[in-house]
Amino acid sequence: MIAQRILIVEDEKSLANLLRDYLGQAGYEAACIHNGLEAVPAIREQSPDLVLLDIMLPGRDGMAVCRDVRGFSNVPIIMITARVEEIDRLLGLELGADDYVCKPFSPREVVARVKAVLRRARDVSADAAADIELDESRFQARLHGRKLDLTAVEFKLLQILSSAPGRIYTRGQLMQRMYPDRRIVSDRTIDSHIKKLRRKLGSASPGEEAIHSVYGVGYKFELEN
Ligand code: CA
Repeated sequence: MIAQRILIVEDEKSLANLLRDYLGQAGYEAACIHNGLEAVPAIREQSPDLVLLDIMLPGRDGMAVCRDVRGFSNVPIIMITARVEEIDRLLGLELGADDYVCKPFSPREVVARVKAVLRRARDVSADAAADIELDESRFQARLHGRKLDLTAVEFKLLQILSSAPGRIYTRGQLMQRMYPDRRIVSDRTIDSHIKKLRRKLGSASPGEEAIHSVYGVGYKFELEN
């Protein structure tokens, strides 16, 4: 089995090395970087299976990094914070992080969190995969086995949303993912595609709501079980 790769973004080198050693012992392949500016390029290049991301970093802070990463990737992110009071703020910001650990922590606790987050990410995508099938080569989608007649844009939207069930995407994040060339489209464009996509999902599975609006924030994909 190939080891899962963890990227540690932490400027306290001794702490980063300690985490790397513990994760290595637990069977992961861990690498460290110590500067916030290097984080986004490293995540793009290495596409790790999980990122441990400190908030207070030189160059670029962890919150900005997290926001940027969510523009192109669903990689599980565990934020590391030195202040308990920051947790509420983190949760309120809807950054799209998967979990948080507070300093000081035991490396063992961090390893346990990493395992749990990776397991959850795998289970969630397996569950959703059973209900929704996407064939990228033909832009064909099925919900509970029923074929959906989607445009390429609707297919892409569904693909992004359903790749991380339960995760809230802001309109800005959706636009960034849909139009990486930064073509200018308005929020309304996203809303109107969502509306059409919802109608099509609704006719394939009457009474079930797959795409949920989160007031003032954006949208998420979630099937009721
Ligand atoms: Ca730090």
